[in-house]
Amino acid sequence: MQNDRPVSANMGGDVADFVDDVLFEEWRCPSCGKTTTIGPRSDIRGYEHDGGINDKNGQGWWVYVSCGECPHDESFGRVKYNLQNY
Ligand SMILES: [Zn+2]
Repeated sequence: MQNDRPVSANMGGDVADFVDDVLFEEWRCPSCGKTTTIGPRSDIRGYEHDGGINDKNGQGWWVYVSCGECPHDESFGRVKYNLQNY
């Protein structure tokens, strides 16, 4: 994805809440079916987008988890449904 970057909790706001919720959780990719740990294996990434979730400065970010085992990216609104302990 163009202009995407890793996102982290130090961005604050709702972005930090999302990262805190999913980091190090086991996540099952709905595309390839593999279970990975978010953070070390499946990256949390994002790009600036008004329809996303806000950082501490009010900037919106379209945040997603990038599988790492296959090309699938899953947006912030859906990731929690595929956490193994959700
Ligand atoms: Zn996958």
